[in-house]
Amino acid sequence: MRKFRIGISSCLLGNRVRYNGDDKFDADLVARLGGMVEWFPVCPETECGLPTPRKPIQAVQTDAGIRLLEVDGPDDHTEQLRRFCRKRLSELAGKQLDGFILKAKSPSCGVAIPLFDPEGRRIGETSGIFAGVLLETFPELPVAEAESLHAPGRLEQFLEKLKRR
Ligand code: SF4
Repeated sequence: MRKFRIGISSCLLGNRVRYNGDDKFDADLVARLGGMVEWFPVCPETECGLPTPRKPIQAVQTDAGIRLLEVDGPDDHTEQLRRFCRKRLSELAGKQLDGFILKAKSPSCGVAIPLFDPEGRRIGETSGIFAGVLLETFPELPVAEAESLHAPGRLEQFLEKLKRR
């Protein structure tokens, strides 16, 4: 049987690319999908040029729209990440991916992340910058957050969607 071609947030595979130099290895998910999958890892934050470790970032509603700002610092990484997302997703368009698994709650990879005002108060939700551009670019692509696939039956449902493509 042909392997599913799945994009994935790189930290879920055990790569130490998180802001604090750690990973978010999802051993159970990787073991369950095992030989069925060819992985296409992406870490938007490191691949766009940010160092590891780095300052954490968050989504902030400003007069100039939603920006990805460092939590404790003045730097704005919105345009750097947007440029990267457009370029990387146009490369991935040629890979004929069957699906994508994202790291939840990440300001880059999460599908629904907290949105703050400039004073640091939580005022709503938005999508992570990579997740948002991914969903806009490939609206038909099955996309799931890794954490959601641990609920009973959810991984099987996700695999069914991949098989129908
Ligand atoms: S940007 Fe995405 S892949 Fe990179 S560390 Fe954050 S959640 Fe993981």
